[in-house]
Amino acid sequence: MHLNTEIKPKLLWLQGVTCNGNSHSFLNLESLEQLLDKFELLYHPLLASTYSLCEIVSLQMSCDILIFEGTYDPEFQRNNIALKELIPYYALQSKHIIALGTCASFGGMFQSLAPERNSGLIYQGEDEDGPLLEQKKKVINLSGCPVHPEWLATTLQMLLDEYKIALDDLQRPRELYSSLAHHGCTRNEYFEWKVDTKGFGLKEGCLFYENGCRAPLTHASCNTILWNEVSSKTRVGTPCFGCTEPSFPRTNYFQTKTNMSIPQDVPLGISKRAYLTVAGMAKTFHIKRLEGVLIDYKRDY
Ligand code: SF4
Repeated sequence: MHLNTEIKPKLLWLQGVTCNGNSHSFLNLESLEQLLDKFELLYHPLLASTYSLCEIVSLQMSCDILIFEGTYDPEFQRNNIALKELIPYYALQSKHIIALGTCASFGGMFQSLAPERNSGLIYQGEDEDGPLLEQKKKVINLSGCPVHPEWLATTLQMLLDEYKIALDDLQRPRELYSSLAHHGCTRNEYFEWKVDTKGFGLKEGCLFYENGCRAPLTHASCNTILWNEVSSKTRVGTPCFGCTEPSFPRTNYFQTKTNMSIPQDVPLGISKRAYLTVAGMAKTFHIKRLEGVLIDYKRDY
């Protein structure tokens, strides 16, 4: 839809049931000021904005882009007005709606605690059972717990540029969610040769076989668009928790579920049988270089 570029598009950021994680993540955006300068920020819970929440809930304003952070609980109130009144009003006003974070996209953390009343804007888990189902075409899901600030910045810029955003089956921009979090991980060589890490925080070894890494099953660009431009979970030796998927949250994040020492879930798109064949062959090789320490600080300094 056309956004008039002479007048700054009006951006409204509302929250449902939330921990504020996506707001805080957004504050880490390097180009925050430059990006916000392109919009009229009607309201944000943490940033200076044109109106107060009290004025916003009077339901008198119009907006172009609605960002919704948190889980949708129809009875949950902001400034004494329930989400079931607030969100449909601004959703109708908006040309675009961004469901920000896994809670707004799929229900996430809060839905797992109270599934009878919480959901995302379109989805509850993978089921289409949210309040804005009829306006699905307007909704872009940016899942993540929290969402990467660059993903939001990229999406807003694409909307400003009137770029036609291609979405995947769960309404997420393909540009950001078509590859897996495994893509670009510095441990890929260890994954290929089935060399597991010997501990969290170490530079060597893959975290898939014993330590719970979900990156081969998770659509996200965390290892190609780095966090704070320098790092990612797996780069510092922590497993990917699969936070961009509707199945999040799960349990036992630091353990890989196995059946007879074989991972219960194998990388996406590979049959279990094919995976076992390849993994079995790879394991027969012992590559000395991958068994040692990459940098031995005690010896080298
Ligand atoms: S640590 Fe995770 S992301 Fe990195 S190679 Fe292993 S499975 Fe892939």
